[in-house]
Amino acid sequence: MRSHLLNDATAEQYRRSVTEGVERVASRLASTRQPFTGVTPDELAPLVAAVDLDTPLGDASAALDELEQVYLRDAVYFHHPRYLGHLNCPVVIPAVLGEAVLSAVNSSLDTWDQSAGGTLIERKLIDWTTGRIGLGPAADGVFTSGGTQSNLQALLLAREEAKTDDLAKLRIFSSECSHFSVQKSAKLLGLPPQSVISVPTDRDKRMQSVALAAELELCAAQGLTPMAIVATAGTTDFGSIDPLPEIAELAAQYGAWMHVDAAYGCGLLASPTRRHLLDGIERADSVTVDYHKSFFQPVSSSAVLVRDGATLRHATYHADYLNPRRTLEERIPNQVDKSLQTTRRFDALKLWMTLRVMGADGVGQLFDEVCDLAAAGWDVLAADPRYDVVVQPSLSTLVFRYIPTAVTSPAEIDRANLHARKALFASGEAVVAGTKVDGRQYLKFTLLNPETTVHDITAVLDLIAGHAEQYLGENLVHAS
Ligand SMILES: *Cc1c(COP(=O)(O)O)cnc(C)c1O
Repeated sequence: MRSHLLNDATAEQYRRSVTEGVERVASRLASTRQPFTGVTPDELAPLVAAVDLDTPLGDASAALDELEQVYLRDAVYFHHPRYLGHLNCPVVIPAVLGEAVLSAVNSSLDTWDQSAGGTLIERKLIDWTTGRIGLGPAADGVFTSGGTQSNLQALLLAREEAKTDDLAKLRIFSSECSHFSVQKSAKLLGLPPQSVISVPTDRDKRMQSVALAAELELCAAQGLTPMAIVATAGTTDFGSIDPLPEIAELAAQYGAWMHVDAAYGCGLLASPTRRHLLDGIERADSVTVDYHKSFFQPVSSSAVLVRDGATLRHATYHADYLNPRRTLEERIPNQVDKSLQTTRRFDALKLWMTLRVMGADGVGQLFDEVCDLAAAGWDVLAADPRYDVVVQPSLSTLVFRYIPTAVTSPAEIDRANLHARKALFASGEAVVAGTKVDGRQYLKFTLLNPETTVHDITAVLDLIAGHAEQYLGENLVHAS
C-alpha cells in the first residue's frame, strides 16, 4: 500500500496516474456534445449504491473506469456553451494547472511552517485585489472557501466593531435581492431574525437608497444600532449593482460598517472597459470576491478583503501548538490569525498561475465578453414576442419568461415555464436556471462562458418555447 503514497520513490507512478486521469477528462471534454445527459437521480443512484467501498479495485485505471460510469459520463459540464444555469464558470487552464500543483504539494495556508512561499503568494494576491478595489494602505484580507464564508467573516468583523453586547439591538441592511448568506450569517452570529432589514429595490433591482435612508433613520429613532449595510455588486439573480456611492455616504453618516458583496461582480475589477461600474467600492469596510465566479477559477477560490487589516484580529485565536503569541512578536506570517478556517487549501495558487499566464486584462476581457453577450441576448429577448424579459443586464444574467399568445391564467404560465426548465434539463440539451420575480416563475440565463454565442441563446429560446408550447397544448387537450 505504500506504493500509493506520493514521494520520491513513487514520482513515476504519480506522473502516470495523474496523466491518465487528465487523459480521461480531456477525452470527455472533447466528446461532450451537450452540457448534461439528463440522467435522473433514480437512474444514477443504483450505480453509486452498488459500489462496495470496502472492496478496493487496487489500481487507478480500474477506478477511473468505474468513475466514468458513476460520475464523468453524467456530470453537468460547465464548459459547454449551452450550460446557462447557475453562477458557475468554465475554468481557465492555468488555474487547473495550479490546482494540480497545489493538491500534490498540499501546503496548508494556516501557518508559515506549513506553507512558506504559499503564504507570501496568497498575501501578494490579497494586496493585488485590495489595490484593484482601492481599499488603501492598511487593507488586508484572506482567501476563503466561498462567498458565503466571506460574507460571514465580514459580518463577524462588523458585529465586533459595533461594540455592543446587546445583539438584539443590531441591525443589518441589505436589499431584497441580496444573497441568503446574509441572513444565514446573522443567525450564526447570534442575531435575531428581525435583525436583517430587507431594503426594497428599484425596477432595475438595485437597492433604493432613499428607502435605505428611511430605514436607517427609523433604526436610529428606535435606539437600535446599524451594524452593517450590505451592498450587493452583482446580485445573484439579476447582476444588478447597488448604488455604491450613495450607500457609502449613508454608511458614513450613520456609522454603519459597509460591506460590499461582490461575489459575482468582482470580475469587473479586471475588466478593461467596465471597472467604473464598481465606483464607490473603494469606500467599503469589507468586500467579498468570488474568483470562482467571474475570474474563471475552479471551486473554491474566494476572498474577504478589509479596509483596516487590524479588524481581522476579531478572528484571531492563539494555540500553543500552532500559532503561539510569540509568533506575533517574531513577525512570523501566520494566515490562520486572519481566517475562520484552520487547515486551508492554497487556492490562491490558481489565481496566481492565471495572472502569471494570462494577466488581469486577459481574465477581464473574458468577463467583458460575457457581459457583451448578455447585452446582445437582452436585445434578442426584447424583440421576441414570445418572451417577457426583466432588467437590462449590468453583468451577465438574463431573467425572462415565456408568455403564450393564447390567454391563460398566470398560474398556468408559471407552470409552463417551470415545465420548460425541467424538460430542458431532462433532455440535457441545455441547462438554464429559474427564479421568481414578484411571485411569478421566471427563467434565467447566467452567461459566464465566452464560447456561448447569440446563436446558442436563440436556439435555447426556441427549445424553451417548444417545451412550454407542448405543455400548454397537452393541458388544453386535458381540459377539453
Ligand atoms: C454566489 C454568491 C454568494 C455565495 O458565494 P458561494 O461562493 O456560493 O458561497 C454570495 N453572494 C452573492 C451575491 C453570490 O452571487
